[in-house]
Amino acid sequence: MNNLTEAEAANELMRLAKAIAKHDRLYHAEDDPEISDQEYDALVRRNAELEALFPHLIREDSPSKKVGHEIAASPLGKVTHEVRMMSLDNAFNREEVEEWAARIRRFLSLDECEPVAITAEDKIDGLSCSLRYENGKLVRAATRGDGQVGEDVTPNVAHIADIPQELPEGVPEVFEVRGEVYMSKADFTALNAAQEEAGGKLFANPRNAAAGSLRQKDASVTAKRPLKFWAYGWGAASEVPCESQHDMMRMIERCGFPVSPFLTVSDSVDAMIAHYEEIGRRRPDLDYEIDGVVYKVDRLDYQRRLGFVAKAPRWALAHKFPAERAETTLEAIDIQVGRTGKLTPVGRLAPVLVGGVTVTNVTLHNRDEIERLGVRPGDRVVIQRAGDVIPQVVDNLTREAQRDPFAFPDKCPECGSEAVAEEGEVDVRCTGGLICPAQRTQRLEHFVSRKALDIDGFGSKTIAQFFALGWLESPADIYRLKDRRDEVLALEGWQDKSVDNLLAAVENKRRPDAARLLFGLGIRHVGEVTARDLMKNVHELSAIRSIAERARAGDEDAAAELTSIDGIGPSVVEALGDFFHEPHNVAVWKDLLGQIDPPRYEVETRDSPVAGKTVVFTGKLETMSRDEAKAQAERLGAKASGSVSAKTDLLVAGPGAGSKLKKAQELGIETIDEAGWAKIVAEAG
Ligand SMILES: [Zn+2]
Repeated sequence: MNNLTEAEAANELMRLAKAIAKHDRLYHAEDDPEISDQEYDALVRRNAELEALFPHLIREDSPSKKVGHEIAASPLGKVTHEVRMMSLDNAFNREEVEEWAARIRRFLSLDECEPVAITAEDKIDGLSCSLRYENGKLVRAATRGDGQVGEDVTPNVAHIADIPQELPEGVPEVFEVRGEVYMSKADFTALNAAQEEAGGKLFANPRNAAAGSLRQKDASVTAKRPLKFWAYGWGAASEVPCESQHDMMRMIERCGFPVSPFLTVSDSVDAMIAHYEEIGRRRPDLDYEIDGVVYKVDRLDYQRRLGFVAKAPRWALAHKFPAERAETTLEAIDIQVGRTGKLTPVGRLAPVLVGGVTVTNVTLHNRDEIERLGVRPGDRVVIQRAGDVIPQVVDNLTREAQRDPFAFPDKCPECGSEAVAEEGEVDVRCTGGLICPAQRTQRLEHFVSRKALDIDGFGSKTIAQFFALGWLESPADIYRLKDRRDEVLALEGWQDKSVDNLLAAVENKRRPDAARLLFGLGIRHVGEVTARDLMKNVHELSAIRSIAERARAGDEDAAAELTSIDGIGPSVVEALGDFFHEPHNVAVWKDLLGQIDPPRYEVETRDSPVAGKTVVFTGKLETMSRDEAKAQAERLGAKASGSVSAKTDLLVAGPGAGSKLKKAQELGIETIDEAGWAKIVAEAG
């Protein structure tokens, strides 16, 4: 039953996402479920199974990515967090923890011998919650939501005994305490037993039980559930009265909040790991579920300097406990062909329960991985899954001396073209290119996908069907579908409204975002971020081709114009050159530009004296590392570049500055020292 093509899987995932969202809404918001809980669970399981099998098809709106259900569909009120609720970066072994500690030292320019105190505490598996106190009184409780906007659960937390309604004298006027709402293992077991008796919904694990219990429209339901809370930090605060994480947590504890019994401070990685191992040993005996240990830089001034990358702070790390493993039989190895022609082997397993989820498929990555594991159909294998990570084979238990290895195909299973690995590459690719239907339809799917042009209404099935009819040969054809309105309408399953919606969605993208469009073309090495970096600097989509062509022809200025962009290296320049060297691609490009008119690409700039400017740092910086300086520049809306050119606006030169300083002087570029830079940063706040 899992012998699906990629297009079929994408289609089914889309239907599952919609169905699950609908049943969530019926269950949570309208209290009027249409299907039994078993049927609902089957949908969720099927979704997880398909996602494990086709990890690259996991949807933005996948039910597996949601905590319960979406905030937008929530019956609870919305709360915008004054200070964003962050997520944490993960480490899975000692090396990654050491690397993190070393990165902190480098960022802060600290000597080897200077100790950096780190707190460690166990990470409870619950639901993050932010509690806002004003003048000592609890005024609002909110879930994390997406980190920026959560749900209002103020009446729901009123009955959680661990959460004080009032704080003692002397706490900051505005103070947000953050922590996890959770359910103990014993309470979870008892709740499920009671639910079963009453014919109610069973919860998969204590975390789901806590989330489902807290996020109730009717707070009296929450009141009956045995929820607990413990604090791990704080959000907005009118004043931060301590200088360290540890002291702040002790203050929060004195306010009446439970904190982790394992909270400690240490200043060596050895001590941190020893503590991690100790917690791991006691984990089975704890009455609550934990999934790792969280480390935080203790000094708050260091935390402020370290700041954030994307959604996670640089100063904190979650060290996860090892993944759960299980043994099963590898029944078959199937080969899937992706958008770039890559042949991906997928292992079909005898179903096995790992960490509470039934796993039937694993990715085997590539030919090398199959060789490394020496796996063949029929082998006994050990698989593991950790958190949200796709299940993988970690060991092969069948070790016979004499046997033929699995024969990796040398022909594309979709189109029969030769499949080869280029020199130095591990991936085997179909060489069929444009004659390979798997590649062509998937390129079109990529083009309309959410991260690219984001055109609604194009399921994989629709694309495959239009492609088979010859209506969709290249991206530009999407814009010509309006001439086929009657033909589309004549197909089974289409009505006036659905056709009009599709055509309107297409028309809506006549002036598309240039970076999304560039990403949507699927040029090698040009991912989402690279496409944005390119457009931020080149501004006009039409200019990309001429620069790439000039660079390929040996024009050094053109190449330098691209490589001087932060994040753009020679491989991107080469890939762009190769793309536009292919006559077919140029035809597709011209055809597409004839259909669309993307506006000039501009980035919003922050209001600071260096916003929108290009800053270069050179020479030795005394009070900060180069990375910290660059991060400051980016925070102020400036672009930190590695080399001086006519486009440089400001050079920050420390002692020992050499050729860059000379070049900047020749070009008449404003030059300041580190103290001057620090002043700009301080004034911009
Ligand atoms: Zn092929």
